[in-house]
Amino acid sequence: MRVLLVEDSLKLATWLCKALQQHNFNVDRVHDGAEADSLLRTEAYDAVILDLGLPSLDGVSVLQRMRARGSATPVIILTARGDLEDRVIGLNLGADDYLAKPFELEELEARLHAVIRRAHGVSTPTVRLGPLEYESSGRLFRVNGQRLQLRPKEHAVLEVLLMRMGKVVSKALLYERVFSMEATTGPDVVEIYIHRLRKHLIDTGVSIVTLRGLGYVLEAD
Ligand code: CA
Repeated sequence: MRVLLVEDSLKLATWLCKALQQHNFNVDRVHDGAEADSLLRTEAYDAVILDLGLPSLDGVSVLQRMRARGSATPVIILTARGDLEDRVIGLNLGADDYLAKPFELEELEARLHAVIRRAHGVSTPTVRLGPLEYESSGRLFRVNGQRLQLRPKEHAVLEVLLMRMGKVVSKALLYERVFSMEATTGPDVVEIYIHRLRKHLIDTGVSIVTLRGLGYVLEAD
């Protein structure tokens, strides 16, 4: 899942970025509001973590501009503890959730998964496709009850496919969501991961179908 982290405290941003990457999120980070605003105009994210007090353009304005453009990307705002006013303003402007600083990583992770699931119209924490089960809170894939042992990028690719199950997912979208902006590889790297995932999914009853020129579909047989 590709996430934009907008936080001007370098210390917090560095820690969060590392921690989220360890949990299979593909994180882009920026430290001021104007930069966030321009990235959000060109790049697609699964969610945005948005601090409100930011240099050059505050978080509220970033959020306001996103919603004015019709962007439905889920946003979690970070507020100072007890700052009820900020929280209310943020939620009224279309933030999906908020967290008061300081917070636990687990809390942020759980909320990220929840807002992303909701954005895909999935309301339960376990997503199923035939014998394939995904517990987003536990970050586990199971097939017929057996845990799939996936590497982080394999996990991330399968997650994007599962959230869009039954729909065609283009190579470009997979590339954008899983491999960060600074990746030196091109979109063809996606093929390597599809190949590896297919090996994991052999004889499971779930397969990744290629639609030439269009992309991939995750299907139960
Ligand atoms: Ca700040």
